Amino acid sequence: MPETPLANPKILYIDDDSLNRTLVKRVLSGYHFEVIEAATGLEGLTIARNDPPNLILMDINMPGLDGHETTTRMRTIPALERVPIIALTARAARGERELALAAGCDGYITKPIDIDDFPHKIISYLKGRRDTISSDERQLYLGHYSHKLVERLEAKVLELEEANSRLQKIDKVKSDFITVAAHELRTPLTLVYGYARLLQMVAQETGQAELVEGGVSDLAGRIYRSVQRLNEVVNDILNISLIEANEMRLQTEWVNLAEIINTALQELNPAKNGRQLNISVETLDTLPNIMGDKERLRQSFWNILSNAIKYTPDGGFISVKGWLTGSAPADAELPTSSCTADEEGIIILVKDSGMGIDRLEQKEIFKQFYVVGDTSYHSSSKTAFGGGGIGLGLPITRGIIAAHGGRVWVESEGRNLTTYPGSKFYVFLPLKSPPQQTM
Ligand code: ADP
Repeated sequence: MPETPLANPKILYIDDDSLNRTLVKRVLSGYHFEVIEAATGLEGLTIARNDPPNLILMDINMPGLDGHETTTRMRTIPALERVPIIALTARAARGERELALAAGCDGYITKPIDIDDFPHKIISYLKGRRDTISSDERQLYLGHYSHKLVERLEAKVLELEEANSRLQKIDKVKSDFITVAAHELRTPLTLVYGYARLLQMVAQETGQAELVEGGVSDLAGRIYRSVQRLNEVVNDILNISLIEANEMRLQTEWVNLAEIINTALQELNPAKNGRQLNISVETLDTLPNIMGDKERLRQSFWNILSNAIKYTPDGGFISVKGWLTGSAPADAELPTSSCTADEEGIIILVKDSGMGIDRLEQKEIFKQFYVVGDTSYHSSSKTAFGGGGIGLGLPITRGIIAAHGGRVWVESEGRNLTTYPGSKFYVFLPLKSPPQQTM
């Protein structure tokens, strides 16, 4: 058995063909090589970057990044600059060896491998053997190689553009379907709504009005409330389609944010639903009125507050504070990011001591239908701990606040169901009137 310069040299073998990988691994393992496999150029790059091997065996013909491109990329990584990279390829045509060397390889072995000779070749490369080409040849092949790269880049850009336009079309089909489905649901909903009311009235007329559990009036009330909830979901879907299409109309008037936030809190009334939360609303009374759409702003704060209630366990706190940019009180918890860009306006902070939100999710939660965690646990309650909706509350809020020329964002150390780091939702609303009446 030939002697290797290192004990158990680590070889990274990058090849998309698993049969080739198995063969090479078996052959080299017999010589006490440790063989690590990668099925793509990108996978190989990650492995090599994290833990540089003693030698890299590189298949050339691979989908995605091919062997030449992977080698050239590896040569730009300082830790891999000096690691021998040996092309292992079935390409035996003239110029293939030169092309591989010009791309950055140190050696070239053709497939199928000669089982007896192969380990000796690998050992010679480990001992320092390097194949070379003349500088004229290198120049020539580098020219070929850069042409090939530009052609591949062009093909990839085209491919991406096509894929992007396909995705846009699919996204439009999805949005159209959602809007049509929501409109279609509205008609039967209105009917069920009406009949439930009628049933209640008939019960009243026939003397069954008192709320006996399981009585006609009680049952009609339950249908009525369920349809009301369904109606809210349908309205959310329609609202998001309006926001997407820039067609939501704002009905602006002078509004008082303290009033709006208190109304939303009264509607939610978590205590009535058995939740034990310490909720405080401070410093809102001193804020100036702004021009805005009262109903839409109520909806926005309702969404943020409902989330704060849902994701904060009993015994926790929720606080709502507000201040004018430029004259924040000394104890104001200013946002860490300068999302207000020094504009004159009002900042409302809704802070909770709930489960918090992972940093990576903090942008995502403002996207349509995005919910964190396992949706199968959702109870669809507006106030129960851990209850969830369909992931439209925050995107609607963002759309409404944006239509007022404002911004909404979240800051949180992360999500933790043991330490409850909490979340801070900031809403910035400018003092000047909304930029336009539609969005
Ligand atoms: P939904 O309408 O389903 O409640 P939202 O768009 O309001 O959806 O919220 C999206 C996701 O953001 C929720 O599923 C939740 O995981 C996360 N989230 C929102 N607010 C908070 C909060 N205060 N604390 C922790 N997670 C939150």
